[in-house]
Amino acid sequence: MTFAPAETRKFEAEVAQVLHLVTHSLYSHKEIFLRELISNASDACDKLRFESIAKPELVAGDGELHIDVSWDPEARTVTVRDNGVGMNRDEVVANIGTIASSGTRRFLEAMSAEQKTDAHLIGQFGVGFYSAFVVADRVTVLSRRADAPAGEGVKWESDGKGEYSLEQVELAQRGTTVILHLKADEDEFLKPWTLKSLITRYSDHVAFPIRLPLEKDGKPGDEGETVNAASALWTKPKSEISDEDYQSFYKSLGHDFNDALTWTHNRVEGSQSFTTLLYLPSQPPFDLMMGGRDERKGLKLYIKRVFIMDAAEELLPNYLRFVRGVVDADDLPLNVSREILQQNRQLDRIKAACVKRVLDLIEKLARDEPEKFTTFYKAFGNTLKEGIAEDHANRERIAKLLRFASTKGEGSAQSVSLDDYIGRMAVGQDTLWYITADSHAAAIGSPQLEAFKAKGIEVLLMSDRIDEWMLGSLNEYAGKKLKNVAKGELALDEADKKQQEEASKAAEPLLKKLKDLLGDRVSDVRVSARLTDSPSCLALSDYEMAPHLARLLREAGHDMPESKPTLEINPQHALLMRVEAEADEGKAKDLANLLLEQAEIAAGAPLPDPSAFVQRMNRVLLG
Ligand code: ADP
Ligand code: MG
Repeated sequence: MTFAPAETRKFEAEVAQVLHLVTHSLYSHKEIFLRELISNASDACDKLRFESIAKPELVAGDGELHIDVSWDPEARTVTVRDNGVGMNRDEVVANIGTIASSGTRRFLEAMSAEQKTDAHLIGQFGVGFYSAFVVADRVTVLSRRADAPAGEGVKWESDGKGEYSLEQVELAQRGTTVILHLKADEDEFLKPWTLKSLITRYSDHVAFPIRLPLEKDGKPGDEGETVNAASALWTKPKSEISDEDYQSFYKSLGHDFNDALTWTHNRVEGSQSFTTLLYLPSQPPFDLMMGGRDERKGLKLYIKRVFIMDAAEELLPNYLRFVRGVVDADDLPLNVSREILQQNRQLDRIKAACVKRVLDLIEKLARDEPEKFTTFYKAFGNTLKEGIAEDHANRERIAKLLRFASTKGEGSAQSVSLDDYIGRMAVGQDTLWYITADSHAAAIGSPQLEAFKAKGIEVLLMSDRIDEWMLGSLNEYAGKKLKNVAKGELALDEADKKQQEEASKAAEPLLKKLKDLLGDRVSDVRVSARLTDSPSCLALSDYEMAPHLARLLREAGHDMPESKPTLEINPQHALLMRVEAEADEGKAKDLANLLLEQAEIAAGAPLPDPSAFVQRMNRVLLG
C-alpha cells in the first residue's frame, strides 16, 4: 500500500469565487446546508446501491444504507454521515477541491455578470457542498471509498478561505462523514429539534432512513430514531399522498424553495409497467434559456426503486426541459448504461408517455386553472414554442396551448389562443393573420396593420424572438393557413383585388418615377393593399425573413444574404401626391428616400446610412 503524504492545497480560483457567492447569498436560507449535505449523502447511497448490483461484495456485511445526523454541544459540531459509496483521495480533490462541471462555471459567470445572488438557484448547480460554509468556519470531511481498504481513508479539511488540507487516515467504515464546526452565532443548529424539523421539512422523502440520536442529559444518547418517511413517495397510492407530501418531495428533488405549480402522478400496468411523477415548477430555473442541456437535473430514472441516473434528455424532449420528476420503470435491465438507454425501444415508449402526460397536464391547467396557466405560460411559454419545430407529432397539441397578444386582445397580454382567433373569424375568412416585430409597440404600431384594422380583421401580434423561427414550422392550424401580414401581395378579397389593379394602373407614372429615384435601393415599388393612413411600408416575399430578425442574426455574427426591399406605397397619401407633383429632381429624390426610410424604421430594419437620412430629413423640414 502506498502512503500519500499530508499536504495543503489551494482551491481552484473558481471554488473561492463560488464560496464567496454562496456564503454571501444564502444568509437568509442558512438552513439549506443540511438539505444539501443530506442530498449528497443520499446520492452516495444511490450510487453504492447501483454499483453493488454488479459487485455485491461492496455492501457485504453492511447492506442497509442510511444517513446519520448528529450534534455535539461541547465541540459545537453538526455531523452528517452516510455509508454510501465514499470517495478516494483523487475523487475528494476532483469533487470538492475543484469545480468540475461546466454548469457551475456558467452559473458563476451569470451570477457575477448580473450581480445577482439568487439563493434558490444555488442547489441546481452542484455547488451544494459549499453551503456548509454558510454556518461553519471549518469543515472536515472523512471519506473512504466502498472498494478501498480501511487504511485508505481520506481526511479533507478547510476553513473555506482559500486552502484545504488532505491527509490519509484509517477509517473503519466505508462512506463519508462531514463535520461542521459551527460559527460563533449558529448555536440553533445544536438543538436536536431544529435538526429534526429541518429534516422533516426538507428531506422527508429522501429514500434512505435519516437517523437522529435521541437527546439524553442535553447530549445525543445511544438510542436513535428515524426521522424521515424514508420511502419512495411515488410508489405509494395517490390516495395516501397529501399535497404537502407532493410539494415537499418536489422541493428536495428540484432543489427549489418554491412550491411546484402542479403535478401528475401515474402508474402504467401492462406488458411494460412504469410509474411517472412529473412536476411543473412555478419559476424558471436560471439556465433554462441558455440551453443548459448537460446540466439538466431533476428528472430521475429509477429502475425498480433503484436510482439509475439523471436522465432528463433520455426521458423528455428538449422543449419540455422545465419538467422535474421521477420515472420508475419495472422492466428495464438494471445494469443499463446511458448508451444503451439512448437506443432502448422500451424507453421510447416511456418517453412518449411522459410527453403525453405533460401535455395533458398543461392542457388541464389551461382549461381548469387559468391563473396558474398564466404563471406557467409566463415562465415556460417560449420554451414550449420550441416544440412546434421539434415535435412534429404533437405540433397541433402544442399550438393549441400557445397564447399571443392580439389586436383584439387586452393590451400586450399574451392571452389569445389560436382557437380564440378562429372562433372570432368572419364568415369566409380562411387565414389566421399575424405580424412579427421586435417589440409589442413596434408590432401594434406597424403600418402593415392598417388595412386589417379598417376591415376589422384580427391580427396576432408576435414580438418574442423565438416567434419568427417557430412560425417557420407553423404554416397551418386546424386546417387554416397562418400568414404574415407583411408577406406577399395582399388583397383581402376579390373587390380588393380589382380595386388594387385599378389603383396600380392609375399610379403607373408615379411608380415609375419612384423606381427611377430610388434606383438600386429597392427591388420593386408597388401600390399597397395594406395601407390606409401611412404613406409607405415594406413588403416581404413569402420566403423572406422579417427585417428585425435578419438584423438580430446579422448582429449575432451570422452571414445573412442582403436582399433589397420591396416598397409599397399608398398613392392616396398627401406625401405621394407631393412626390408626383415635385418637379425639382433633388427634392423629389429626398422625398422618395424618406418614404423608403420610414418604412424601414417601422419594420425594424437598420438604416443603411443614418447620417444621410438625417441630412435629408433636415433639408425637407427646412425646405
Ligand atoms: P452535486 O451534489 O450537485 O454534484 P455538491 O457540491 O453538492 O454538488 O457535491 C459535489 C460532489 O462531491 C458530488 O457530486 C459528489 O461527487 C461529491 N460528494 C459530496 N458529498 C458526498 C458524499 N457524502 N459522498 C460521496 N461523494 C460526495
Ligand atoms: Mg449536492
